[in-house]
Amino acid sequence: MNSPLLQVTDLAKHYPVAGGRTLRAVNGVSFTLRAGEVLGVVGESGSGKTTLGRVVLRLTPPSAGEIVFRGQDVTHLSRRALRKVRRHMQLVFQDPYASLNPRMSVEQILAIPLQVHEPSLGRADRRSRIEEMLRTVGLFAEAADRYPHEFSGGQRQRIGIARALICRPELLVADEPVSALDVSVQAQVVNLLLDLRERLGLSILFIAHDIAVVGMISDRIAVMYLGRVVEIADTLSLFNRPRHPYTEALFSAVPDLGGRRDRILLQGDVPSPVSPPSGCPFRTRCRYAEPDCAVEVPSLVERSPGHLAACHRPELVLASPLSDVAPLPRLR
Ligand code: ADP
Ligand code: MG
Repeated sequence: MNSPLLQVTDLAKHYPVAGGRTLRAVNGVSFTLRAGEVLGVVGESGSGKTTLGRVVLRLTPPSAGEIVFRGQDVTHLSRRALRKVRRHMQLVFQDPYASLNPRMSVEQILAIPLQVHEPSLGRADRRSRIEEMLRTVGLFAEAADRYPHEFSGGQRQRIGIARALICRPELLVADEPVSALDVSVQAQVVNLLLDLRERLGLSILFIAHDIAVVGMISDRIAVMYLGRVVEIADTLSLFNRPRHPYTEALFSAVPDLGGRRDRILLQGDVPSPVSPPSGCPFRTRCRYAEPDCAVEVPSLVERSPGHLAACHRPELVLASPLSDVAPLPRLR
């Protein structure tokens, strides 16, 4: 088997906060991403998804752990050395309104990464690369001469994707790329990303808070809670048999995926990552928790082939009728 495109080991990102305390936004995350694979990252707001994506791209330095990308340890690369790596790993933002400069034409927006990473490209070649990329993301070449406000939300997100792809990266980190879009437009953009993965051989780290959206696009899914991966599995396996009570609760909150059962599964907010519960971080919201769940942090254990969960009560989750088969979300 090929070595993975991206290998992340025990990655952590800590922020110092008031009172000399530490906020553990990402707290020991490990995963691999193979070439051409889509790995979904899902969890409620505050679970550390954005921080994970930014650390993986080295937009912010990790506090601990290791990032190996294309066989190269990029964990501690200098700013200069990073620039060479950057063109191979790009970010798509959540908000296609805020992330595109309204005073620049689409051509100017897409020219910036080309000027940085392919400075020898002449003007005409640059223009044709831009036009080609606009067509690749389902827009017209003439879009180059227009301004962001002339486009709909979905079209703007296509422009954001074009900007990320114009230097032909191998890894795309898409952070809530459809969360700001109307539901009807979400599936179109998800479809586009799947199509681009196919045609360009892209690997995608697809981050979203909505497990139904993540299920539409991902080959595998990592579920995050308080900076940790609590479950990771093939999408089908995760949907068929969630092995972590948090995942079970995420499913039950989505009407199409089992919300018909009961929606009381997940009460209250995610605890503060500054002072997480002792032992299992999820135990304060867990329907299966017992006193000894407070003692140790559960480690990720393989429960079936390729399906890992971090839970002290896996047999209870498995026995629950609530965690019975959620239908896979389908596109369109
Ligand atoms: P998500 O994307 O899952 O909503 P984030 O990665 O944005 O989660 O945030 C995870 C935690 O880290 C949150 O508690 C957030 O407040 C905190 N956090 C994120 N960025 C910073 C920062 N620059 N300084 C301090 N805390 C931060
Ligand atoms: Mg986020």
